[in-house]
This record gives sequence, structure tokens and C-alpha cells, in this order.
Amino acid sequence: MKNIKSVELFVFDLDGTVYIGDDEIDGSFDAINSLRQMGKRICFFTNNSSRMHTDYIARLNKLGLRTYSDEIYTSGQVTCEYILDNYRGKKVFLLGNERLRAEFELYGIELSDDDPDICVIGFDTSLTYERLYKLCKYVNAGLPYIATHPDFFCPAPGCPMPDIGALMEAVRLTVGRSPDIIMGKPHKTAGERLAKKYNLHPRQIAMVGDRLYTDVAFGKNCGFVSVLVLSGETDKEMLSRSKIKPDYVLDKVKDIPALIKEEQEA
Ligand SMILES: [Mg+2]
Repeated sequence: MKNIKSVELFVFDLDGTVYIGDDEIDGSFDAINSLRQMGKRICFFTNNSSRMHTDYIARLNKLGLRTYSDEIYTSGQVTCEYILDNYRGKKVFLLGNERLRAEFELYGIELSDDDPDICVIGFDTSLTYERLYKLCKYVNAGLPYIATHPDFFCPAPGCPMPDIGALMEAVRLTVGRSPDIIMGKPHKTAGERLAKKYNLHPRQIAMVGDRLYTDVAFGKNCGFVSVLVLSGETDKEMLSRSKIKPDYVLDKVKDIPALIKEEQEA
């Protein structure tokens, strides 16, 4: 049976879980600091591959939560690690913006627009038709094809932004291929990497997030303790209709320390 009291590493989604836009979700920073004081390790894991992990360190520190350099994990980083392990020395055609390109370069991965060995689709907020067509050509030619994450859209004030999933559909409708592998939540690759990196059993890891089909599904797929918070996308009605059932449902991240104490005293 899964218990939150035996969790050593808490993996948090960001938007809708820790903050919304530029606002902390009431009490989440204090709760995360309390978990640190209890000796728990913290990781923030986002599917957004349009920013470098360092951008998130700066963002959280600016918002008021002290954040350390190894506490951020993005789907872009998962992709870089996967490429280093499976395609070391290979050249990558990357559909991604400047920040994702910089992340790949930081990992020492060579990018090539004209002579790649593999192709990667990321959340490209600087997308041009020319580069989308180039990706189609490489996918059509049969190059290994990797996606950083699967989201169809990215929440934004007023109107959602088309994310990578919408473009993967465009590629599929054009040349008839979907990615060979997808990184990011809810797929298992990142979870296996987290368990290895922290040397923990999956039951010692909790995934905390506001989306059932990415955060909670990721926790379930990886064998982690799954915690749904109702501070973002999911409400009680969506939860009751969903087949994806989290191990714990809380209003907010701030309720986690009390839940652990409750279980320890039971
Ligand atoms: Mg979220």
C-alpha cells in the first residue's frame, strides 16, 4: 500500500500546483520549506520545453521560493539526457525556440539543420512554416523522431496556446508518422530517470499536480504515490468522472505537511 509518510522525494508540477501565473498558490512556499525541514527532497517537474531549467530557478526565486539548481527538471532536460544515453554523438534537428536550443547546447548536444541523424520536436514558440516543413521532411525520411512532451495546448490568459501535441498532429496528418518516443509527463522515461537519480524506490516518490491526465497519470505509470491538488485545472466533478484516480486528493500543496504528520501519528 502506498503511504505519503514513506515518501522521500516530492515531485511538484508548477502551474496550477505551486503558482498560478505570477501568484503563489496560498501557502505552497511555506509547505515546501516545511517538507525540506522534514528532510524531504524536492523536485519541480514541468512539461514546458520552451524554457531552460535555469529560467525556472530564476522564476521561483523571484516569486519568493528559494530554489536550488538541481531541483528543476523539464521535459527538455529529460530529452537531452535520453539523447546522451541513446544517441551520443548524433546530430539533432531541433524544432524548438532559443531557450530549448540553449538547453541542448548546455548538455553538449550538437544541433544541425541540414545534416541531422535524429529529429526532436519541442514547444517551439518561435515556429516558422519553413522549419515545420523541414521537420516533416526528416520524419518522412525515417529519422528517429522524439517529442519532448505530449501536451496539445499550454494554458494562457484569454486563450490557450497551441503546444507541441497540436503540431505532432500536423506532422502525422502530413507524413503519417507520430513520434517514436515521447518524454515528459505522463510517459515513464522521466520517472525512471528520477528514481535512478535519487536512488529511490518508486514508492518513495510522490508526484503532486493539478492535472489528472499528465501529473496523476504520470505518478500512476511510474508507480509513484500520486497526489492531486484541486488548486488548478481539476475540480471535484472532473475527478468523479475520470478513470484516473489519485492516491490522495488535497485542496492545495499547503495541506501536505499536515497529511504526513497525520499518517505518522496514526
Ligand atoms: Mg499544472
